[in-house]
Amino acid sequence: MLGIFGGTFDPVHFGHLRPALEALETLALDELRFVPAARPNLRDAPMASPEQRLAMLRLAVAGQPGFAVDARELARPGVSYMADTLASLREEIGERPLCLILGSDAFARLHRWHAWERIPRLAHIVVAHRPGWDGQDLAAPLEALLAARECAPEALRQRPAGGITRLSVTPLDISATRIRELRGQGREIRYLLPEAVRQYIHEHRLYT
Ligand code: ATP
Repeated sequence: MLGIFGGTFDPVHFGHLRPALEALETLALDELRFVPAARPNLRDAPMASPEQRLAMLRLAVAGQPGFAVDARELARPGVSYMADTLASLREEIGERPLCLILGSDAFARLHRWHAWERIPRLAHIVVAHRPGWDGQDLAAPLEALLAARECAPEALRQRPAGGITRLSVTPLDISATRIRELRGQGREIRYLLPEAVRQYIHEHRLYT
């Protein structure tokens, strides 16, 4: 079973990496691919360039078996849409089960994504809890999606796509926004993200 973790990763931090590792282990994924968005939809342009965000991700996953970086959205012109990314992956992997991993904040906005109705047909959805986003009211289309498709994690590997499962992960209240703010104020960002990424940020004078 293949897992996909999309995001801006501006920069990647432990709030991405630890839940992703727990998803890899709990769901017994063969591989988890981080997919940086070139030009994200529905949010401001990233501060670091695509190449810099890719370089930071590669530093972050180095040495972790099962983790990989997939740069296909950077190779595609225009805005990055997850539905297109999943469709292109589906062409490559045939009927192999595919899981899209989302934090609960991202899931709560899923119904605003471009062509979002295609996503459950292309992949399973795994919602990893993010502090501050648990127990919130979901929009009606997402409540309906959960009611129709929620299943146990073990059920995901029995079909290629279509299930939704919620995963409780170590709650880490870390965001890239906060890291950029700290840098902007000249404050220390150590222990919020991998040391190699922190060094890269310093060497390239990012987010100052
Ligand atoms: P920003 O603060 O710039 O919006 P972010 O820290 O939210 O960034 P993104 O790259 O936008 O990070 O997020 C990518 C994915 O990671 C999303 O699915 C998001 O829900 C998830 N995610 C990010 N931070 C956490 C966290 N601390 N815990 C759980 N999931 C997270």
